Amino acid sequence: MDPLVTDIRACRICADRFAATATGHRPRPVAWFRPGARIVIAGQAPGARVHDSGLPFDDRSGDRLRDWLGLDRATFYDRDRIAIIPMAFCFPGYDAKGSDLPPPPICAATWHDRVFAHLGDVALTVLVGGYAQRHHLGVRSNVTDTVAGWRAHAPEVFPLPHPSWRNTAWLKRNPWFETELLPVLRDRVAQVLGPREGEQE
Ligand code: SF4
Repeated sequence: MDPLVTDIRACRICADRFAATATGHRPRPVAWFRPGARIVIAGQAPGARVHDSGLPFDDRSGDRLRDWLGLDRATFYDRDRIAIIPMAFCFPGYDAKGSDLPPPPICAATWHDRVFAHLGDVALTVLVGGYAQRHHLGVRSNVTDTVAGWRAHAPEVFPLPHPSWRNTAWLKRNPWFETELLPVLRDRVAQVLGPREGEQE
C-alpha cells in the first residue's frame, strides 16, 4: 500500500463534522491514486454509495463519467493510469434538501499539496464539477460558463459538469457538450493512455 494512501485512509479530521450530520457517519476516506498515473480525475467528494463501497465513482455518476471519457471499468480503475483526487476524500453527508453537503475545505488544504507532489506530472486533468474547477482553475464563473470555455484549457485540462443524473436537464440544454467537447475529450484520453502493453496500436 502506498504510504500516503495509508495516511489518508487513517485521517479522521472531520469526525465531529460528520457525526453532526443527519447520517452521523464516520470518516471513510476513499483514496485512489498511485505515482505515475497519466490522468487525474479531480472531483467533488464521494457520495453515500461510494462511502459504503470504498470504490470511487462506483455509482451511476461513475457510469456516466466513464462513458464521457470513453473508458471501460478496468481502465478507469487502473491506478497506474488514472488517479482520482476529489476535493474531499470522504462523503460529507446530506443537507436539509437531501443533496450532498459541500466537500470540507480542510481536506484539500490538508492533503492536496502532498498528493499532487506525490503524483508528479500528469498529461490530462479532468475537473468534475464547480468545486474542483474553482479550486484548480481559480475561476469564479459558474459551471456552465467554465465548461463552455473548455477550449481555453484543453488539451491538458477539461472542465466537466458533475455526471450526476441530476444534471440530465443541463445536458439537454447544452447539446454542444456532447457534440463538441466529448469527442475531443475522448480522443485526448485515448492519446494520453495509449495502447496497453501487448496491444496493437
Ligand atoms: S474529508 Fe478529508 S480531511 Fe476530512 S476526514 Fe476525510 S480525509 Fe480527512
